[in-house]
Formats: sequence, structure tokens, C-alpha cells
Amino acid sequence: MENEEGKREMTKKQSSRFKSICVFCGSSNGNKASYQDAAIDLAKELVMRKIDLVYGGGSIGLMGLVSQAVHDGGRHVIGVIPKLLMLQELTGETVGEVKEVADMHQRKAVMAKHSDAFITLPGGYGTLEELLEVITWAQLGIHDKPVGLLNVDGYYDALLLFIDKAVEEGFILPTARHIIVSAPTARELFIKLEVYR
Ligand code: AMP
Repeated sequence: MENEEGKREMTKKQSSRFKSICVFCGSSNGNKASYQDAAIDLAKELVMRKIDLVYGGGSIGLMGLVSQAVHDGGRHVIGVIPKLLMLQELTGETVGEVKEVADMHQRKAVMAKHSDAFITLPGGYGTLEELLEVITWAQLGIHDKPVGLLNVDGYYDALLLFIDKAVEEGFILPTARHIIVSAPTARELFIKLEVYR
């Protein structure tokens, strides 16, 4: 039902309910080509839907791939970088607009403020921390922006299983489990996110 609605939505117009999306992803590329392919694929989907990008800034890892491809596709890119990471050897060049912030906490607040939804690609501690924080904020009603998880090649299967276990064990409410919208490809994820309430 959700999928059918999403498909109808997309055939009506190649645009989106979202103007700007914040992407969390690895500052590394990961070991499989599929992670990099997924980053480029997500960027193409953003461009096709005329969505601007907000991200952590810099050109390293999947962050660099997504931002460069969105920028090349003609969409606006905002990179939000804490002073600490401004040194180029830590993040590399940022394409598009750079917003320098005081620290990591302010960075997340600024990234959230400038976006209508969040999408997480594969990544490490930094990515997980960002994902879990926006889920927690949604749970507390601090925002009502959709939170998408791109589960490329089952990368996040173990995390989703753990979260199901936390629901079973009474630490996460079943309603809060539904905050996370996951799909294996950007296209399928957007079909769900476009109709998510
Ligand atoms: P990780 O998943 O540990 O590679 O961290 C990537 C996430 O944390 C990104 O979404 C960034 O917002 C942030 N981050 C971590 N390291 C860096 C870095 N060197 N430069 C810019 N952002 C970073």
C-alpha cells in the first residue's frame, strides 16, 4: 500500500516533498565497491528529485563521493564542519557551502536545522552516533523528520536485529521502532520516505 502510493507520487512528478536532506555516512569508503556505488546512487536520486544535500563536510570516504556527485548534479551542498575538523588533512576540500561551527554538538544541531529528513549510508562510529541521536530526538518529539537507513548489502542487518531485541526486551517501544525507515536501495528508500508520516 505504502509502496503503491509512493510509486504514484513519483510518476506524478520527479520531485520530492523534501527540499533538503542530511546524509550521514562513513568518512571511509568501506571494503566493498557496493558501498561506494550506493553513495553515488543516493546522490543521483537526490539530484533527480531536486533535493539539496546537508552533510558533515569534507571530501573523504563516502562523504566525499556523495557530496561531489550531488554538487556535480547541480544541487546545493552544505557541509557543516566543526573548527576542530577544519584542518584540510582531516576532512579534505568541501564542495559547495561550508558552515563552520564550534563543536560536534553544534554541528548536529545545524545539520538537523537545515534538512527535512535524514538518510544514513554505511559508516562507522561517527555515522552510528549521528543516526542514533536523530532517532532519539524523534522519539522525544524534538523533531518529526523522517529517518532513513540505507541498508546496503545488509550492512545494518545486525543493528536492526539488535533494535528488534531491544523492543522484545522492553527497552524500546514498538512505536519507536517504526521511526527507522530502512531499504536496500536509495530508490526503495525514497518510495517509503515520501509517504512516511
Ligand atoms: P565515521 O562513520 O566514523 O567515519 O564518521 C562519519 C560521520 O561522522 C560523518 O557523517 C561526519 O558527519 C562525521 N565525521 C567523522 N569524521 C569526520 C571527518 N574526518 N571529517 C568530517 N566529518 C567527520
